[in-house]
Amino acid sequence: MQESHPPRKKLNKPPTSSIRSQVAKDIKKSGEPWERIQDYTSHTKKIYSKLESMFGEVETPLYYTKDYELSIAVILSAQCTDERVNQVTPALFEAFPSLESIANAPLKEIEHYIFSTGFYHNKAKSIKGFANMLLHEYKGVLPKTLDEMTKFPGFGRKTANVVLSEVYGIVEGFVVDTHVKRLTYRLGLTQYKDPIRIEKEIMEKVPKKFWNNLSLYLIFHGRQTCDSRKPNCARCELVNICPSKNVYLSDSK
Ligand code: SF4
Repeated sequence: MQESHPPRKKLNKPPTSSIRSQVAKDIKKSGEPWERIQDYTSHTKKIYSKLESMFGEVETPLYYTKDYELSIAVILSAQCTDERVNQVTPALFEAFPSLESIANAPLKEIEHYIFSTGFYHNKAKSIKGFANMLLHEYKGVLPKTLDEMTKFPGFGRKTANVVLSEVYGIVEGFVVDTHVKRLTYRLGLTQYKDPIRIEKEIMEKVPKKFWNNLSLYLIFHGRQTCDSRKPNCARCELVNICPSKNVYLSDSK
């Protein structure tokens, strides 16, 4: 007679992608993240306090020693990480140690130093154009308004806002980079996915004194935990107040 095997134990399978997408669909049915927020002000306050306790005093992670160098670093940071920008700027600023030297530098030479930040043809043109305009129209002193700032080559609202707040402590807008765009949506702080509309909505709903730090906090949190593809909800300190956590939790365990 053949020996009968004991019944096999059922193994708990990890969630498959179809199960994950079903979870996402179920969550979707209960509304977008911003639709799940009942009291916007108190929700925003909770997020801000948590982020403040995590990051405290914050400043731009970009390397610079002169005001115009910060502007150049921010131009370079478009479609590029701050880490990468910090890898190229020390050599660039050493090779061109003054505003005049960078204004007069051949484009090819600027490109040589910034090549690895991507879009280097356009960025080199913007840097040279910015240096010339700052030198000849503003005698080397950065202006203090968003309107003037956004006239520099390579300056969008984001660049202008970062430079104004960092150099003069002037906050005229809410900086929306790729991390801020993603996190404001996931955290239910906005219903939009377009940076200009996000900026407008936050400026209408969040007091001005919080704009600068909130933006930097979201950038840091996006880099450390709330990644675009693999947000680490299981280890996220905002998990209890984040309206998107269930969508991503099964992925991050
Ligand atoms: S809980 Fe997840 S989705 Fe929400 S902020 Fe944290 S990492 Fe991002």
